[in-house]
Amino acid sequence: MQKVSELYRGKAKTVFVTEDPNKLILEFRDDTSAFDGEKIEQLSRKGEVNNKFNHYIMQQLEEAGVKTQVESLLSDNESLVKKLDMIPVECVVRNFAAGSLCRRLGVEEGLALSPPTFEFFLKNDALHDPMVNETHAISFGWATEDQIEQMKVLTFKVNSILSPLFLDGGMLLVDFKLEFGVDADGNIVLGDEFTPDGCRLWDKDTKKKLDKDRFRQGLGSVVESYIEVASRIGLDL
Ligand code: ADP
Ligand code: UDP
Repeated sequence: MQKVSELYRGKAKTVFVTEDPNKLILEFRDDTSAFDGEKIEQLSRKGEVNNKFNHYIMQQLEEAGVKTQVESLLSDNESLVKKLDMIPVECVVRNFAAGSLCRRLGVEEGLALSPPTFEFFLKNDALHDPMVNETHAISFGWATEDQIEQMKVLTFKVNSILSPLFLDGGMLLVDFKLEFGVDADGNIVLGDEFTPDGCRLWDKDTKKKLDKDRFRQGLGSVVESYIEVASRIGLDL
């Protein structure tokens, strides 16, 4: 499948239209951003690592019964995906407290959350992705009540599939963000990406951070850690 034209250039990926109106190409770049795009760096091999990592995870989710955008891996940095009409809210599930939850509620990092929490954030860098609730999503027309319910159920389902997968590799899935869209048949489908850029993963014994917090906090060895995560779940990059 060939790229026809650029549709959108995001902070980490570029989206291309193809000859098939229902399919897009996602190009994963080496660009790495944090704090709503305030900190940006190129990290060698990150695009390739995230492209292959995302494809591997989405395949596992498909096999476990979650509808995803996945079509095929096209090259080191490109994947063919289903074109989705993206819903502009991010779905976040947390198993342990970290990041904005700690800043907002003053709880200690690492506190186990039982049951796991669920939050929606509006995708809007200029407004710093504010937290919103389901009535906002419905009233502003971002999603229907049924779509909201499906996204919630699917995000918890992804948590129940991926938490044990990472635990088998000696890691805790601390939290993660998903984005959903609507496909040509009106189904809610998992889009965007699942990579260490959009989740938190800690070594279960040492609590060493193996995700994008290494970049946010200037801890170094960012891509090396993503490769280690992949290797621990059976993907050699
Ligand atoms: P951002 O927009 O946050 O800077 P990216 O650099 O990851 O993020 O850009 C990718 C863009 O492509 C995002 O806006 C995302 O919502 C969108 N996208 C991801 N997957 C799909 C898909 N399957 N169909 C349509 N758009 C998608
Ligand atoms: N996240 C993301 N994109 C965003 C905001 C958050 O991928 O725009 C992920 C983040 O990597 C973490 C989870 O969602 O795994 C929860 O993020 P949090 O709300 O704690 O925000 P942060 O502290 O990262 O700003």
